[in-house]
Amino acid sequence: MERTTVCVVGGGPAGMVLGLLLARAGIEVTVLEKHDDFLRDFRGDTVHPPTLDLLDDLGLGERFRALPQSRIERVQVPFRGGAATVADLTTLPGPNNFVAMVPQWDFLDLLADAGAAEPTFRLRMRTEATGLLRENGRVVGVTYRTRDGETGSIAADLTVACDGRGSILRAAAELRPKSYPTPMDVWWFRLPRLASDPAGIVGLISKARAAVLIDRGDYWQVATLIRKGSDAEARRTPVEGMVRDLIGVAPWLADRADAVSSWDDVKTLDVKLDRLRRWHLDGFLCLGDAAHAMSPIGGVGINLAVQDGVAAARMLAGPIQRRSVSTWDLAKVRWRRLLPTVAIQTLQRVLHARGLRPALEGKIEVAGAGRPPLPLRVLTGTPLLRRIPAQLLGRSVFPEPTPEFARRSAAR
Ligand SMILES: Cc1cc2nc3c(=O)[nH]c(=O)nc-3n(C[C@H](O)[C@H](O)[C@H](O)COP(=O)(O)OP(=O)(O)OC[C@H]3O[C@@H](n4cnc5c(N)ncnc54)[C@H](O)[C@@H]3O)c2cc1C
Repeated sequence: MERTTVCVVGGGPAGMVLGLLLARAGIEVTVLEKHDDFLRDFRGDTVHPPTLDLLDDLGLGERFRALPQSRIERVQVPFRGGAATVADLTTLPGPNNFVAMVPQWDFLDLLADAGAAEPTFRLRMRTEATGLLRENGRVVGVTYRTRDGETGSIAADLTVACDGRGSILRAAAELRPKSYPTPMDVWWFRLPRLASDPAGIVGLISKARAAVLIDRGDYWQVATLIRKGSDAEARRTPVEGMVRDLIGVAPWLADRADAVSSWDDVKTLDVKLDRLRRWHLDGFLCLGDAAHAMSPIGGVGINLAVQDGVAAARMLAGPIQRRSVSTWDLAKVRWRRLLPTVAIQTLQRVLHARGLRPALEGKIEVAGAGRPPLPLRVLTGTPLLRRIPAQLLGRSVFPEPTPEFARRSAAR
């Protein structure tokens, strides 16, 4: 049987950050990732101020800034006849007072490169964890299967499930999340992008649809929110109708009416919002979406997962080095991360119930002339209140300090 000190399952934002930080503490870490690479276009692209600060602390800021990217500084909410700025990130202390939009594969590649420079870091791609190893009630590692069909086991002092919202390890540990209803799923597809198109992120809202277009150079990555459970019925109608809906609110897309010719080109992503009551067992911890699946609303799930990784590395590096990680140490990570998780999930649930559900059921009008609704007028008209969404979106409830052992003055 192979051996490592910490086995991290899942090379997403939570797992890669945790793996890199622990390796910088000199701890032997093996990260398992089931895919061949990070090139999966259904990942979100948002990199928030606390993650930008983290990258600077890790000495990776310069390399990150060299990646192709755009910036979001303000968030607007449409209302009848206009749009109101609900979060102005430029009011936050700088220099990282914006959200960077970077393809997530570039961000994860950067972390993987930084990990490769650490002698105790090992990333095993094409390796899928298939279950937990247990000894006298304690989790002592994982079983795995590679893409080539090879199977094996890795023993570890600590196993961390960062395997996302469909976590296999969470199920193997019999930890069951409490689920909250979500009103939507997401259609995910590409449209060609022309040089004359707008640049950056474009939000589109029609009567029963909301879409976000992400600028990926020569194509738009389109995310369209649909009513939960409406996918099967919609797929019985011609796919061109879906693009025509977008053209109705974005006439500059008219020349691409036939660009999506088959429903096979449209992926449906199941949106979940859930949270574990208990995040750990003896020798085992869940982080990121494996502990709390996030809705795409606000684009904050990546940052929350990154911050989970930072907190866990900072709080557990000492006990791991002393080979004395207790269930209490693991429980403390959950206590530390609970408040930001609950705060953001609660906000997402309110936005689902008050904004998205009625919009997707066609019960609120977003087009036409009119004044902003009262809550928006109060929010945007009160300087103190105006700061709250910017703070929550940009900085979360409290950012996690980067541990000293992980800091570097420049990239190595
Ligand atoms: C449609 C949609 C759009 C979203 N858009 C955004 C956005 O724009 N911004 C944002 O901040 N958040 C967004 N989110 C939320 C965000 O994707 C998650 O909160 C975030 O990715 C969680 O990070 P993670 O590291 O916990 O898990 P993940 O990013 O899900 O990473 C898990 C990793 O584990 C790997 N894995 C899974 N099982 C195994 C296994 N058994 N063995 C080995 N590897 C395994 C997976 O391949 C994956 O690489 C979106 C969510 C949805 C559903």
